[in-house]
Amino acid sequence: MSEKFFIGSHVSMKAPDYFLGSVLESLENGANTLMFYTGAPQNTKRTPVENCKIEEALDLLKNKNFDLDKIVCHAPYLINLANRTTKEKEEFSINLLISEINRCAAFHTKLLVLHPGMSLDLTIDEALNNIADGINKAINKTDNDVIICIETMAGKGSEVGTNFSQIAYIIDKIQNKDRIGVCLDTCHINDAGYDLNEPDNILDEFDKIIGLDYLKVIHLNDSKNFKGARKDRHANLGKGTIGFDKLFAFAHNARLKDIPKILETPWIGEKSPYKQEIEMLKTGKWFDIEK
Ligand code: FE
Ligand code: FE
Ligand code: ZN
Repeated sequence: MSEKFFIGSHVSMKAPDYFLGSVLESLENGANTLMFYTGAPQNTKRTPVENCKIEEALDLLKNKNFDLDKIVCHAPYLINLANRTTKEKEEFSINLLISEINRCAAFHTKLLVLHPGMSLDLTIDEALNNIADGINKAINKTDNDVIICIETMAGKGSEVGTNFSQIAYIIDKIQNKDRIGVCLDTCHINDAGYDLNEPDNILDEFDKIIGLDYLKVIHLNDSKNFKGARKDRHANLGKGTIGFDKLFAFAHNARLKDIPKILETPWIGEKSPYKQEIEMLKTGKWFDIEK
């Protein structure tokens, strides 16, 4: 394994240690990067940043030689920038995105993953226009260098951002291109119909349509469903339809060398699988994780 392999997982952030706890959990798993939510993704309750042990966490990250630029935060699921059925709904999503961008900056975290949204009863183009406009407003109202990374979606319900063209359409409309990027989720692109047996075709297409420079985060997950199922159910590595060998090859693809890979695979019973899955991704040797 090259020393430039950036691997981590989604980790919790909770009382009493908050961000420091997230870092300790990552170290325990053998990770050298991580992804956290600044609070529960399903609600807007947030612990004040002063209580999140950010300075202690940053000291430890520096001490352990983590690259701070590779650390990832995930925005709450409640944000749907496409939805402008009422002024309140429009403002709710934009304001929540603004507050998450500012929280991210307080955590010295640069990469904020965002689900682009649901089209509901709009056309896809209308939805994409609203999303681009919402992102522009949020960027214009935040004075920091946080990069909003639009996640590739599986296509469940009316999700948009299910192919590279839709994401390119949004990026094209973003005024400040330094603040926009992409998060590619392997489970989601499989479910959206991309063939992970041909990783170089995927990366060629990504490069042609979006540009690989915009790719900032990989979510590395197996999928419980077949290619094109539009479902979005993550599986543990080697326990889904993509398979360990394909995911290992993707994670170690030379064109993705500097990009952090983040596991969001499901827990096995009461246990986090991340320590074992990180080990598999370092060694290339799959093993069955026991309950
Ligand atoms: Fe996500
Ligand atoms: Fe994801
Ligand atoms: Zn997912």
